[in-house]
Amino acid sequence: MYMKHMCFTLLVQPNRHSIRASELQCEHTVFWSIIVPGGTFNPNMIRLPIASLAALILVACTAAPAQKAPQPSVTQAVLAGKLIDVRTGSVHAHAYILIAGDRVQSIADSAPSGIPVTDLSAYTVLPGLIDAHGHILSNPTTQNFADHLRTSIPQSTVWGVYNLRLWLDHGFTSVRDACEGPADYPQFALRESVRRGIILGPRITAAGSCISIAGGHGDGAPFSPDLDLPRGRNVADTVDDIDHVVRRDIKYGADWIKLMASGGVMDPISDFHVQELSEAQMAEAVAVAHRAGKKVMAHAEGAVGIKAAVRAGVDSIEHGTMLDEEGATLMEQHHTWLVPTLYCFQHDMQTGLSKGRDPASFAKGEEIMAAQGPAFKLALAHHIRIVYGTDDADVDEAASMEFGALVRGGLSTLGALQAATINAATMLGKDQDVGTLEPGRYADVIAVKGDPLADITVMEHVAFVMQGGRIIKDPAHPDRNPVLHVQ
Ligand SMILES: [Zn+2]
Repeated sequence: MYMKHMCFTLLVQPNRHSIRASELQCEHTVFWSIIVPGGTFNPNMIRLPIASLAALILVACTAAPAQKAPQPSVTQAVLAGKLIDVRTGSVHAHAYILIAGDRVQSIADSAPSGIPVTDLSAYTVLPGLIDAHGHILSNPTTQNFADHLRTSIPQSTVWGVYNLRLWLDHGFTSVRDACEGPADYPQFALRESVRRGIILGPRITAAGSCISIAGGHGDGAPFSPDLDLPRGRNVADTVDDIDHVVRRDIKYGADWIKLMASGGVMDPISDFHVQELSEAQMAEAVAVAHRAGKKVMAHAEGAVGIKAAVRAGVDSIEHGTMLDEEGATLMEQHHTWLVPTLYCFQHDMQTGLSKGRDPASFAKGEEIMAAQGPAFKLALAHHIRIVYGTDDADVDEAASMEFGALVRGGLSTLGALQAATINAATMLGKDQDVGTLEPGRYADVIAVKGDPLADITVMEHVAFVMQGGRIIKDPAHPDRNPVLHVQ
């Protein structure tokens, strides 16, 4: 239809004698083959006389029917007792997810005969979940900083393989890594290994190393100065330092840049109330990253650091635990995402000092707990878009628990599901691939017993997981891909 309209416009413009070929936008490739037979060309360079084109255009417009790409053929189906459309919250009973290869082909009321059908008629089915704040290399058994000195990078990487398997088991088919310490980026190696099918795990989007000022939240190891230990690779005290470390991260494969905009809680020495990286440093990081097509997330707890990061143009604020009215207004204006990671702070208070946490860090955690609830309510009042993130070293205990924390904090059950699906996918720029079960998206499918719209805690017991059409976890075959649970 668009092409026909264009033809008409051209024919009634008598004072025009030529037209750039690029104006002749047409979805029919056959059209170009008429005008420029067999040629490769830069459309902007070609000017064509209208008079000699008019007849050809009319022929092309009327002769070339709209060619729809043929539907890929269905290879399998999943029968959902209830299928939740996370975009709207509507529920489709007895729905078939028709799958072609690794992607959803369509949602239908029946399945073609002769294809395998996975019967989840006793379950509620949702898209695969996305955890947008993980630290893949974490050792879940310790919170003692000194253990870093005794843990090799190969050992951390193996913890990563273990953690990835657990995320998948809890229904998380995608994860965003929110920065790691090692200078040689094991998270990128794990990302590529998952992509190539060498190891099982969620699809990984990864930040590089944590970018911090000296003595900041990303440089917070409390060791004596005379030890002269190697510093974190991404300690950056000036704008020039920022240029260097951001470009290094991007060179070696970072999808996101992670900035420490304020102090944090889990390290024993930084002050979470204060801003760390300067606004000029963060603005430079955003400029370099965005120019390279990458996004920027900022760890920000204290209100001053949050506001500086938002003004600098970061894409997401992580934690935002002391958000104030002015900061919430700024986030609303800038459309900044918030990944509140509520549960991990709560969980860490339960864990206490039992995993070797430094008492100074624990004391900071107690103070944060008082600020967390009001800050989150402020974010909701300002309609800030919320994304699911766990930030907990213990993936097995914590990955599914943020749902409950979000709802207890005031988010609706649908809002919590959206945080872990369509919102996270949109923030990552991957909503054409993941986050919903719409045609063309990966066949990342999970199932739970019960109704998460009525009781969000059913999300803590994901019974079935499919990733890209491959069944990872199946209640009918509990011995499939068994998971080890390290204590
Ligand atoms: Zn984190």
